[in-house]
Amino acid sequence: MALVTGGSRGIGRAICIELGRQGARVAVNYRERADAAEEVARIIRESGSEAIVVRGDVASPDDAASIVQETVAAFGGLDILVNNAGITRDGLLLRMSEQDWDAVHDTNLRGAFLVTKAALRHLLRSKAGRVVNISSVVGVMGNAGQANYAAAKAGLIGFTRALAREVASRAVTVNAVAPGFIETDITAQLSEKQLAAILPQIPLGRVAKPEEVAPLVAFLASDAAAYITGQCIHVDGGMVMA
Ligand code: NDP
Repeated sequence: MALVTGGSRGIGRAICIELGRQGARVAVNYRERADAAEEVARIIRESGSEAIVVRGDVASPDDAASIVQETVAAFGGLDILVNNAGITRDGLLLRMSEQDWDAVHDTNLRGAFLVTKAALRHLLRSKAGRVVNISSVVGVMGNAGQANYAAAKAGLIGFTRALAREVASRAVTVNAVAPGFIETDITAQLSEKQLAAILPQIPLGRVAKPEEVAPLVAFLASDAAAYITGQCIHVDGGMVMA
C-alpha cells in the first residue's frame, strides 16, 4: 500500500508505475492535472495492480491530512510513502522574491513534513514502513539560480536523517533519493544554453529518463532494503561521487 505525492507526471509517475508493476496498491496524488493522474492509475490497473487517484496540495495541512485519509480509507493502511511532489521557481538571489522562496519551501519541504506527519502513525503500524524522499543533486552541490530549491532539497536530506533516527526502533526506514537532471516538465524549462552548460558536469554525458530513477525508489521501498536507512542515494550520472 503506497502513496506517491506528485504522482501524475515526471518522476512521480514513473515511481507509481514501477511500484504498481511490483505489486503495490498505489495512491496517485496530484494537485491540478487530474487527467494525467487518471492515466497513471489506468496504467497501474492494466498491469494488474490496484490504484486510486487522490487530489490535494501537499503544502496545505488540510489537504495533506485528507490525502493520507483517502489512501488509508481505500487500502486499509499504508506501508510506503514517497514524498515526490516538487516545484522550482528559479532566479538569482538578488532578484528572488519572498514568494518564490516560500512557494518552493512550501511544496518541497513543508509538504513532505505535512504528509509524513499525517502518514506516520499508519506507517508505524505497518510491519515494514518505508519513507522515500525525493531530494536533488542540487541540494548537495548547489546550483546558481536555485538557492530556494537547493535549500529546500538540502533540508529534505536533514529531515530524512532525523526521522530515520526517530522511527528506526519501529523498523520504519527513511531514505532520500537525489536525482540529477531528469527529462521531465521541470527540466523542459531549461534553455539549450543552460542544457549545454550542464552536460559537461555529468560524467555519463546525458540527462536521464524518469524510469531510471523509479527502480531505486521501488528497491528502497521493498523488503530487500530493510537494513538501509538515513541514506541519500544519488541517481545523477556521476555528478556527485562520495
Ligand atoms: P514534474 O513537474 O514533472 O511533476 C511534478 C509533480 O508534482 C506533478 O505530478 C504535480 O502535480 C505535482 N505537484 C507539484 N506541486 C504539488 C503540490 N503542491 N501538491 C501536490 N502535488 C504537486 O516534476 P519532476 O518529475 O521533474 O520532479 C519530481 C520530483 O523530483 C520533485 O521533487 C523534483 O524537485 C525532483 N527532482 C527532479 C529533477 C529533474 O531533473 N526533473 C532532478 C532532481 C530532483 P500536477 O500534475 O497535478 O501539477
